[in-house]
Amino acid sequence: MNPKLDTILKKAEKVLNASEPVSYRGPVHVGVDLGTAYTVLIVLDEDYNPIAGRYQFAQIVRDGLVVDFIGAIRLLSQMKAEVEEQLGFTLEQAATSYPPGVAMAEVKATRNVLIGAGLECSTFLDEPTAANRLLQVENGAVVDIGGGTTGVAIIENGEVVYTADEATGGTQFSLVIAGSMGISFEEAETFKKNRGNQSRVLAMVRPVMQKVGTIIARHIEPYEVERIYLVGGTSGMLGIREEVEAITGIETIVPSKPLFVTPIGIAMTDG
Ligand code: ATP
Repeated sequence: MNPKLDTILKKAEKVLNASEPVSYRGPVHVGVDLGTAYTVLIVLDEDYNPIAGRYQFAQIVRDGLVVDFIGAIRLLSQMKAEVEEQLGFTLEQAATSYPPGVAMAEVKATRNVLIGAGLECSTFLDEPTAANRLLQVENGAVVDIGGGTTGVAIIENGEVVYTADEATGGTQFSLVIAGSMGISFEEAETFKKNRGNQSRVLAMVRPVMQKVGTIIARHIEPYEVERIYLVGGTSGMLGIREEVEAITGIETIVPSKPLFVTPIGIAMTDG
């Protein structure tokens, strides 16, 4: 695994949504991740260190399909303008990605969102391959538990050899919380992400975590998987690592800021 992973993720957390001017002048690598729950724009310097970026909750894409094209362009344009203001120069191009297993006809609108926001699309690749640019896993399973889906990728000798994507993700967790507590989906999202509520949340969503564990176990079963790496925003939840490890019987690792792994990996493929 990438020995600099933790340092890079912590840098990303520091710069994302910050507003201080950035003095760096040099080549940049830019990544755009249009997710079901979060849209992320991240800029790396020539050594792949995060220097600026934005992330925002927005429901503009569902499982790789752009459901609000105009809204997506507006949001990305706004993010780009804010980051450019900080950097003092214009961003010309970016890499972006799509979930595995979705037809190209369905995901190609993602590239058009970039173009609509004034960014040339330099690289268009699948999410697990992007995530692994940062993780640098040689052999194992990379599992992206995002907003809408759980994506499983098997890596052998550094290459993605199998992918699957199933419709269970953070949205389902929030729906269960909303149902249990009699609150709206938006309130449940906020409740879920508040660190102070983690034990109460775990008690409500443990069955959904077990479902995620079962999905992972089913897909990795035919392969000799040494280790499982959890990425995506939902992987940061208290208890999920342990549930996945218990169900699969395989050592499971969660990087410090799993939400940022795929966006940074995407940016690393630009330029
Ligand atoms: P997808 O990959 O399914 O298209 P996405 O790219 O938007 O979705 P991510 O950005 O990786 O997915 O993760 C978003 C999910 O992570 C949301 O469901 C969100 O509620 C959840 N999430 C983010 N931060 C936290 C947190 N601190 N605690 C719990 N859940 C979180």
